Amino acid sequence: MTSHRFQAALLPQGWARDVEIEVSAQGTISRVSRATRAEGAPPPEGIAVPGMPNAHSHAFQRAMIGDTEFRQNARDSFWTWRRAMYGLANRVTPQDLALIATQLFIEMLKAGYTSVAEFHYLHRRQDGEGYGADDNPLHGAILEAARRTGIGLTLLPTLYQHSDFGGKPLREDQRRFGLSVREFVQVIACQSQAAKPGGSIRCGAAFHSLRAVSLGAMREVIAELDRIDPHMPLHIHVSEQQLEVNACRRLTGKRPVELLLHENLLSARWCLVHATHANREELRGIVDAGATVCVCPTTEGNLGDGFFDAEYFLDLGGRLAIGSDSQASVCPAEELRWFEYQQRLRRRRRAVLASPAQQHVGTRLWEDSAAGGARALGQPVAELKAGARADWLVLDPMHPSMAGSPPEHLLDRLVFTSAREAIRDVVVGGRCVIKDRRHDLDSASAAEFSGWMQQQLTLPVS
Ligand SMILES: [Zn+2]
Repeated sequence: MTSHRFQAALLPQGWARDVEIEVSAQGTISRVSRATRAEGAPPPEGIAVPGMPNAHSHAFQRAMIGDTEFRQNARDSFWTWRRAMYGLANRVTPQDLALIATQLFIEMLKAGYTSVAEFHYLHRRQDGEGYGADDNPLHGAILEAARRTGIGLTLLPTLYQHSDFGGKPLREDQRRFGLSVREFVQVIACQSQAAKPGGSIRCGAAFHSLRAVSLGAMREVIAELDRIDPHMPLHIHVSEQQLEVNACRRLTGKRPVELLLHENLLSARWCLVHATHANREELRGIVDAGATVCVCPTTEGNLGDGFFDAEYFLDLGGRLAIGSDSQASVCPAEELRWFEYQQRLRRRRRAVLASPAQQHVGTRLWEDSAAGGARALGQPVAELKAGARADWLVLDPMHPSMAGSPPEHLLDRLVFTSAREAIRDVVVGGRCVIKDRRHDLDSASAAEFSGWMQQQLTLPVS
């Protein structure tokens, strides 16, 4: 049992001053109480806020950030970016993936993400040959990076069977993604078995998109997964691109979210990634089903996806999560800032995403996306209360962007001032993984990653 004392902490009931948090040997919060100012006690550690779950990540894409920011033709789009991304996806080995993910997860921890859902569709060797379900080194690379860095992980092996609607076969440059339903279920069964109960690593499942998975395969998989774990988180990319919405409607007569609702597939364990082009009827359906929407504002901005109807969705009581997706930015504060700024630019108003219950935009968005992220990851995190995992950030009250702030303004300052350095310590499962803004693997990982990136210089990006 360890005990931590803070000047202030964001608790489920709001901001509290002088807080003591006790943590069990298993890394769970056992008690939250008012700290007594005993004489000779060590000074309080700072200000505690819940760590942020990152509900959508493709780790390997960290290795191409900044390398696709030039115009190749007048119609550059998501689809031309995807060609470059496939070039990288077809190059990385399991060893490459381990060092990329290690560097990325350290960066996530420093920025305030304490857990991550890895949406993982690299399953096969470079030549397309398969690995065993229980010893796939591409899955092992992600698990190893999470264990080494200490970040919480929900591994989402991803089913990817077709190149487009109508059951089109995978293309040559998608050969590493394919698994049969049987192979996919075996992977999930093995990973679920390997995850220790109560630990910070668990397994969920993802369907790449409605383009890549038929409704029949989806139903077959869900029936099998229900036997393994009926509460397993399920994720899918949906309505990110207008082209995809149009193709879905042409083929099925329905828009993507409309189709999922019509097929009665959605429930509270689903996380819909993007949902950018979902219309208001679809958004009402998502809220009624209790599903979470994961927005990735910097990636969606980078790829020119479009605007999510955030104000309407949140006013309905929609569950929100955020993700770093392509790793265009690895910073929850930046995702939330852009999420709000998109709305301000559209509505020509300020503080659009405040709510009657929480008028501070930073606090409202941080609390909502932490709670939605915890649900999307299927992990007991995101609230500083007894029974939750001890995942939190310690803000430095003397950082120039924090100094003199009343507690109610602290998360507004974090979100709106780019004050990443204000996060001094990061705790996951009761273990301090970032101490004084440093991770134990900082130098080793940076050297390994940079050395590898240097070698890639000779390779084209597309
Ligand atoms: Zn994605």
